[in-house]
Amino acid sequence: MGKFVKEILDKEEFSREDIISLLESEGEDRTLLFTKSSEIKEKYIGNKVWYRGLIEFANVCGKDCLYCGIRKGNRNLERYNLTDDEILAAARFAHANNYGSIALQSGELESPFVTDRIGNLLHRIKEMSNGELGITLSVGEQEPEVYKSWFDAGAHRYLLRIESTNRLLYSKIHPDNSNHSFDRRMSCLKNLQDIGYQTGTGVMIGLPFQTLNDLAGDLLFMKEFNIDMCGMGPYIEHADTPLIEYSESLMPLKERFDLTLKMIALIRIMMKDINIVAATALQAIDPIGREKAVRIGANIVMPNITPGKYRDSYKLYDNKPCTDDSAEDCQGCLEARMSLADAEVVYGEWGDSKHYSERRDKNTKNTENYKQ
Ligand code: SAM
Repeated sequence: MGKFVKEILDKEEFSREDIISLLESEGEDRTLLFTKSSEIKEKYIGNKVWYRGLIEFANVCGKDCLYCGIRKGNRNLERYNLTDDEILAAARFAHANNYGSIALQSGELESPFVTDRIGNLLHRIKEMSNGELGITLSVGEQEPEVYKSWFDAGAHRYLLRIESTNRLLYSKIHPDNSNHSFDRRMSCLKNLQDIGYQTGTGVMIGLPFQTLNDLAGDLLFMKEFNIDMCGMGPYIEHADTPLIEYSESLMPLKERFDLTLKMIALIRIMMKDINIVAATALQAIDPIGREKAVRIGANIVMPNITPGKYRDSYKLYDNKPCTDDSAEDCQGCLEARMSLADAEVVYGEWGDSKHYSERRDKNTKNTENYKQ
């Protein structure tokens, strides 16, 4: 078996079957996969990690995704919305502690008020930090002109998980209505890329009804779409969501965790210079889950800098870690954790996706060639 996996790992491009074989790998084969992905990370990225101070600024959501704890239909949840000053204070903490970037995340709402509010916050954060803080947005599906206005206001990265690229699976984990359209989510991703954002996507791993073939399709999609950043994590059930009824059919949490590591290793091998997040959900399953992800390919960690009193209410899934900590607790804890993973935290840099700059340079060259 080892030889077979070694042969696959030596290929320039993986087929769907190759990916499935690697996702199935166990024992020595699994070690070969992880060794290869760590080598590639070392070569293309170095043993480094960049922070995105995560501000989960509101858990109010207009959508009803069947897996998500902050879905509109969940009445067992206190809703919150940080004030602009609280968001500014969290951004100031990130800047003062020399984090290169922050990420603003919330439930999904589309309205002129939200558009203006986020635009205004972007200006204020840029001004407060003398343009030094990089800003990732993750606030869901919006119209192209809204994305453009936020880009012009200073956001330069956007994370929008496609959740699953199998349309049928997507329809099983979302309500069947126009507010949860696969096509719209896909066109939002395209718009983000066209506007010029460093564009990130990802999927949940271990969903009910999901197969290895689906996951292979997800990886092939990310490669073909030419993403700059990837955020993938295990699906973890939440008691107050409709998908809880399929809990019995799920693979054990440890297997979901292991499969997530394999997915991270594979995307690192397939897309050598993109940014890959070590998702917090990994730590909900394994206390050193994020460190393991960093060892085998991830290079981005998102310390939670949301004010502590709100953290318990941004529960996407059960057993979300660190909800009792303060931003200061996260700071010390993560630094120690990353050194355990032999990774050096880089301070004071945006930590942009190398893939993005290469992609932009290539586009410029192509246009120049075309002009000549
Ligand atoms: N609303 C924005 C969006 O969808 O892009 C951002 C917030 S949303 C809560 C962030 C991500 O949480 C989703 O993209 C989804 O992948 C993840 N998530 C939601 N419920 C989850 C669960 N039960 N287990 C693991 N991840 C989950």
